[in-house]
Amino acid sequence: LFSNLPTIPPDEPFSVNAAYQEDTHPKKVNLGIGVYRTSEGNPWPLRVVEDAEKTIYEMKDHGRHEYLSIQGDQVFLRLAADLVFNFDSTTKDRERIASIQTVSGTGANRLGAEFLSRYIHPRPQNVWIPDPTWANHHTIWQLAGTSSSSSTPSIKIKTYPYYDSNTGGFNYNQTMKKLSSEAKENDIIILHACAHNPTGADPSIEQWENIAQLCKERHLIPFFDLAYQGFASGDVDKDGWAIRHFFQAGLEFCVAQSFSKNFGLYGQRVGALHVVTKAPSATITSTGHDKDPGTTEDVLATLCHLVRGEYSMAPRGGAEIVRTVLSNDGLRQKWVEDLRMMSSRILGMRRALFEELVRLGTPGDWTHILRQIGMFTYVGLSENQVAAIRERHHVYMLRSGRISISGLNESNVRRVAMGIDDVVRT
Ligand code: PMP
Repeated sequence: LFSNLPTIPPDEPFSVNAAYQEDTHPKKVNLGIGVYRTSEGNPWPLRVVEDAEKTIYEMKDHGRHEYLSIQGDQVFLRLAADLVFNFDSTTKDRERIASIQTVSGTGANRLGAEFLSRYIHPRPQNVWIPDPTWANHHTIWQLAGTSSSSSTPSIKIKTYPYYDSNTGGFNYNQTMKKLSSEAKENDIIILHACAHNPTGADPSIEQWENIAQLCKERHLIPFFDLAYQGFASGDVDKDGWAIRHFFQAGLEFCVAQSFSKNFGLYGQRVGALHVVTKAPSATITSTGHDKDPGTTEDVLATLCHLVRGEYSMAPRGGAEIVRTVLSNDGLRQKWVEDLRMMSSRILGMRRALFEELVRLGTPGDWTHILRQIGMFTYVGLSENQVAAIRERHHVYMLRSGRISISGLNESNVRRVAMGIDDVVRT
């Protein structure tokens, strides 16, 4: 029965984490998995999340374990959309957005991929994924829209050259060249809204404006992955800038929103998918209905249909925490303070690693560590050097040389720098 299954390689961040757990060396360092850690190397439930949990518990709401609707918690969804698009209470812009609660950012990516693969007309030929990217984008689009009789994805996966290893930055010229010469009408383009994973290299404002223009001219469908809003810079508006710009440019697109990192709610699976449609017009159709095809209502109904057939609805516990925080001015302020604390610790560790490498005189230019932002940096080690640093120094990172800066702290940063220095020199 099960003899013909494909051989699936282990997921790298989780397998690196498992190897780290098994290592008995007292000074081992885990820079593999993308989770926030304190200066002592421990997980950190945000203070504001603990406050919200207490508030929720004390309310003793007898309905707190009831089913949500298929769409999810609508108050949470409105607050989540307001956070992304920075809407105020009077805006009519909200009518352009169909929002649905998802099983965190992964679930939002997956649902969006399924929706676009199955229902967009004319059907997109390609999905353009940055090279490199969060590895799960490949898995998600590989699975999207496949029928049970075929494992071939209905939309071809192609990549665009995102990273320039010479500068440690976004390869704007090559990306634009590739997309403007090869992307076809209705093709989907995956964009990391901020703090690109794994490189930490983001487009500038001007580059974002030109990407939006390109999407408009060539009728591409942008798909933003928003996993680090507020976590990247400590400022939620700054980190959401690109998405708001695309919205104002009148584009139709998707946003996969995760609350794993910015609320530290990794295992609670809190997220949302927002599908932005063009502005609704009140034309009377030939059937006499005051309704355009392709409006947010239709999009939402289709998304709900997909969710109902998958898992009925997203879990409610974590979303309730986010809703409690975002709907209360005092808690919201506290959240911003927690965000700043996490992002400034990460910035501090970037600087500390850079300074240690400079102090050691490690061959190479390490300034990209300071220029890149967010949780990750492409430190610039080869696959062999990554293997060597694990073997000789018990420092764990992904094969690509991606390190999670939040695994660094005052007690281990020198050790990590010395490890890098050693493997670079040998
Ligand atoms: N997208 C990107 C780019 C990510 O880095 C992550 C987290 N590693 C996610 C999506 C999804 O995370 P989650 O499912 O925990 O929200």
